[in-house]
Amino acid sequence: MKKSYNVGKQNPMFGKKRPEHSEKMKGEKNPFYGKKHSEENLKKISRFAGGCYDYWHSKARKYFFTGYCEICGKTNKDEIKENGKSLSMHNTLVPKDYTVMNINAWMCVCQSCHMIIERKIQYGD
Ligand SMILES: [Zn+2]
Repeated sequence: MKKSYNVGKQNPMFGKKRPEHSEKMKGEKNPFYGKKHSEENLKKISRFAGGCYDYWHSKARKYFFTGYCEICGKTNKDEIKENGKSLSMHNTLVPKDYTVMNINAWMCVCQSCHMIIERKIQYGD
């Protein structure tokens, strides 16, 4: 007689989920979601600048969030309506240093302005 084992449950990797990942997938439910490319780019940028991206950005948001885009003036409300998420915090330092909690090192921007300024930094203006 053979005993059947549930191998899956014994596997240490079984059932492990990456919470940040599923958090980010939420946006896809938004009917206005279609910025997959931008999302990819943001990931690239965060890797580029070295870890702890989310940690420092949420910290900066707490201190320096203005409620509108400092470049085009779009409000947070409009940004959520269009992109399904709130305005981003942009680190203005070159090279980037997310650990600097200084008003001069951070800007509150909408997603499209954020992509434009990040691109300028990466490829030169
Ligand atoms: Zn903007």
